[in-house]
Amino acid sequence: NQPLHELDPEVAAAVDAELERQQSTLEMIASENFAPVAVLEAQGSVLTNKYAEGYPGRRYYGGCEHVDVAERIAIDRVKELFGAEYANVQPHSGASANQAALFALAQPGDTVLGLDLAHGGHLTHGMKINFSGKQFNVVAYHVDSETGLVDMAELERLAKEHRPKVIIAGWSAYPRQLDFAEFRRIADEVEAYLWVDMAHFAGLVAAGLHPNPVEYADVVTSTTHKTLGGPRGGIILARSKDFAKKLNSSVFPGFQGGPLEHVIAAKAVSFKVAASEEFKERQRRTIEGAKILAERLTAADAREAGVNVLSGGTDVHLILVDLRASELDGRQAEDRLHEVGITVNRNAVPNDPRPPMVTSGLRIGTPALATRGFRAEDFAEVAEVIAEALKPSYDAEALKARVKALADKHPLYPGL
Ligand code: PLP
Repeated sequence: NQPLHELDPEVAAAVDAELERQQSTLEMIASENFAPVAVLEAQGSVLTNKYAEGYPGRRYYGGCEHVDVAERIAIDRVKELFGAEYANVQPHSGASANQAALFALAQPGDTVLGLDLAHGGHLTHGMKINFSGKQFNVVAYHVDSETGLVDMAELERLAKEHRPKVIIAGWSAYPRQLDFAEFRRIADEVEAYLWVDMAHFAGLVAAGLHPNPVEYADVVTSTTHKTLGGPRGGIILARSKDFAKKLNSSVFPGFQGGPLEHVIAAKAVSFKVAASEEFKERQRRTIEGAKILAERLTAADAREAGVNVLSGGTDVHLILVDLRASELDGRQAEDRLHEVGITVNRNAVPNDPRPPMVTSGLRIGTPALATRGFRAEDFAEVAEVIAEALKPSYDAEALKARVKALADKHPLYPGL
């Protein structure tokens, strides 16, 4: 029972280096966050040792009395948090939750509508070489190239033409709220199921700062590690128990074996945190920070440098930077920010003239910095650093120092 540093110094060094990277740089990848120490603790607990195939009270293994407690707490808390009558907390990841949900609602070969990957959708919403695109007949809808908003008229037209079994609403890169009521109306009109994937914005929903898709959709999936701020994992929710049997058996034994009870315990902890006032306040700062960024990167000097913001702003935790008029492509801009200590990811803009490995845009998110304690004045400073770094000439050393000052002002995991 040697500690990690003694037993395996090589792996320990990588873990230490990653902690140092997270502490000393500014994390602005929109899908990332920092889990609380209590979540890390639960996830690193002895629950990792336990086999518990099945569901609480109905397991295929003995000795499940304690993991049953943790899993029931997770289920009860997440149902309460999102006003759901059904919850499954076992999916190992967002993609696993989506796979289980899609196979519960439709059969291979059925038609489903999803937002095009290049327009902000997720791989599991119908990408050609993903299970979704391989096994289902996927018809993609798009954002309007003028407004940057989901083209609901196109969605309705495609729904009437293709009569899908499922309409998928949700995104990985989109800066606005979706009109769930309108999605529901269109789904009802063509007798399709509505599945919402709220992986990105679940934390905003939990805080009451974003419409709650559970009220509209037949099934809702999410990750637990993005805005929700918990351990890496997935969940499935529904407003009624109508699909409970199908969803449960789709997760286990359909796609998964033994659940990760240590992660489920960590999910339970994160749902407790997500119900707190502190969490609400953090989500408020998350959105405020994204709005500050959007405003700064649409100012006259940013536009002069060829920088703009898709849809002109944001309602959520991220912005999409449009670099089509800049001398920098997405990859160069990502590298530029990395050089000064800010981590973001390049991202295709709709109808991007450049290939997916290069792109003409950036996705920049604020959840991790809000978790670190950033307030409006800190987001204004980081927005300024980004605006300066994306100009044709920039002072890397000066910008690095400003990034370091922000990181020092808001220490991450002190004492770890
Ligand atoms: N759904 C959406 C909308 C996402 O953005 C993501 C992750 O980026 C996922 C699902 C998949 O989550 P995971 O990476 O945990 O499989």
